[in-house]
Amino acid sequence: MEIKLKDIKGVGEKLTQTFRKENIWSTYDLVLRYPKLYENYSISSLYDVKDKEKITVTGVIVSQISFEPYKKNMVRFDAKIFNQKLNIIVFGRKYLAQQLNMADEVVIKGVYNLYQKTIVASHVIKKEKHQEFKPSYQIPNVYDQTVSNLLKTIFANKQVSVYETIPEKFIKRYHLPSRLRAFEMLHFPKTEADIQQARRRFKYEEAFFLQLRLMSKNKDEIKRPEKALHEIEVADKIKQLPFSLTNDQLKALDDIYQDFSKPHVSYRLIQGDVGSGKTIVAFLAMYVVVLNNEQAVLMAPTEILAQQHYQNFVRLFPELRTVLLTRKTANKDKIKTAIANHEYDVIIGTHALIENDVEFAKLSLTVIDEQHKFGVQTREELINKAHYKDILYLTATPIPRSLALIAYGKSRVSSIKEKPASRKKTKTVYIDIKQQDKLDQAIQKTLKQNQHVYVVVPAIDSTKIAENIITIYEQLKQKFKAPIFVLHGKLAESEKENVMQDFIETKGSILLATTVIEVGVDVKSATLMVIYGAEYFGLAQLHQLRGRVGRGSDQSTCYLVSQKSDVERLNLLEQIDNGFKLSQYDLQTRGPGDFIGTLQSGYLNFAFLNLIEDEKILLEAHKNVQELFNLESFEKDTRYKHLHKFIRDDLKI
Ligand code: ADP
Ligand code: MG
Repeated sequence: MEIKLKDIKGVGEKLTQTFRKENIWSTYDLVLRYPKLYENYSISSLYDVKDKEKITVTGVIVSQISFEPYKKNMVRFDAKIFNQKLNIIVFGRKYLAQQLNMADEVVIKGVYNLYQKTIVASHVIKKEKHQEFKPSYQIPNVYDQTVSNLLKTIFANKQVSVYETIPEKFIKRYHLPSRLRAFEMLHFPKTEADIQQARRRFKYEEAFFLQLRLMSKNKDEIKRPEKALHEIEVADKIKQLPFSLTNDQLKALDDIYQDFSKPHVSYRLIQGDVGSGKTIVAFLAMYVVVLNNEQAVLMAPTEILAQQHYQNFVRLFPELRTVLLTRKTANKDKIKTAIANHEYDVIIGTHALIENDVEFAKLSLTVIDEQHKFGVQTREELINKAHYKDILYLTATPIPRSLALIAYGKSRVSSIKEKPASRKKTKTVYIDIKQQDKLDQAIQKTLKQNQHVYVVVPAIDSTKIAENIITIYEQLKQKFKAPIFVLHGKLAESEKENVMQDFIETKGSILLATTVIEVGVDVKSATLMVIYGAEYFGLAQLHQLRGRVGRGSDQSTCYLVSQKSDVERLNLLEQIDNGFKLSQYDLQTRGPGDFIGTLQSGYLNFAFLNLIEDEKILLEAHKNVQELFNLESFEKDTRYKHLHKFIRDDLKI
């Protein structure tokens, strides 16, 4: 039942139009307009009120309190209200005589007698205790009082149908107010607790429907045959690796194999710190797919990374038919035909993989490395070429748990937290820009040892940021004889590739770069990184950057150079070598903005839910939706029919 606002008593043509401009058409639309904030007191002005009207005013007591027990326990005092002295009379409130004192600020509710200058009060309360909350709607050109009055009419006459959206058992379990009650509490709160209760309910509601939306998408997974896991071959392969896998790597692998053994397609996010060894996990997943006589593809964001993966893969899995497909690949047509004819099992490449004429014979695992470097569309284009759309995303940008839960669902994220034991921790040192000498010495020493140096700056060319590509390039050129390569976002892709390649091949050289070097290349002889203007970067990003060094067996160092007094924050980096913890810190101090882009979700606008603070609620909602889906009767149970409809039509409640 939708009731048009214009059919409500008291809503004329003008008001109708004003509301429509705000997209408020029906009574329900108005009910959904939550107060933006609450004013603490609803005070009438004495000049507006007429004789014998009910009023609420604040005032200061300007006389002694007199108490007359024989006159119905009458308490009486004078109060100054809007520059007038009024005599206040309260009956039957003996306790007030003790509570109130001269000079107290009080809120008085009662009937005003204009001629006798009195208020016969029904309520007198000290101002600090008074909790009448007046909603402020901030609808342009409409008084809040008008909105409140309208809502009162609408609720009193039941001119809006508000039905419960949350299954009863969860309402009971968490003692949530009903939806109707929650709206009333929001619009007509009597106490602060009312507002809190209502908010709690709507937070849960938002979390519940978010989870319902996400989890129902996963629920109708497309069927495919279960994959054989070939345990013996896999165990053999793991034994032959030049290192032993960490527990987290094994756990992630196990998660993937669990997915494979289910009769429907899967997707999974492997998130792990830089250098935690995500690639080998993906490789072993691809291996099983090939043992099932199917193809696997791995897409990386840069040419160099794709090449690196290709070389590593061929080295570790020489028996598989593997091919590299990038923009630079020679004999592309021939290779494409071979891929389409299943003459290759494993295809590794870049964006070139999504070209129209790339076809696969039987692609059944798509791995996307550094997934946040790709747009949704690119990823989908590749995935759509698959026969079975099993997907593995790899990312080194750890997404805080609450956000990962939202974007992927808890059971779909595997986290690799420990680093291989052999890895030496990169020493991180905060350094004031005045200690430039110390930096120069460190650079000189590294170059002498024929190792690679990264110098990172926050900008290419800026008048605001002193340390940029242009200025630092000049400095480096003057101080060092070593070759300096320059890399930044304005170069064409192919130029970037060339610069990177030249740098890798030139021992004892410097790469001066912006954050474009963030993506996972593995230069084992890079042992020094200097990051200028460290205050411009988030902690997680700095952590990601320093992951470029410390990849070989030599001790590496990362200098964080900063002018500003950012020491406290940067000190965290000296101590913490865990991208998850650092990203949590960024989330708390910088908000979810850094991550939202990564998640690519358009449905994260909530009126009540806060992704950071309300992680617990999200987790509960996640569990609850799971509980519903586990019910055999869920699909048929008519009590859930609006949930079915929501899932079917992807509606907003
Ligand atoms: P990332 O997770 O950042 O993508 P990589 O997969 O590139 O990390 O791994 C970084 C390096 O660590 C590679 O040279 C890889 O061979 C090596 N590596 C991976 N796993 C282990 C391990 N368990 N022990 C030792 N070295 C490992
Ligand atoms: Mg990687």
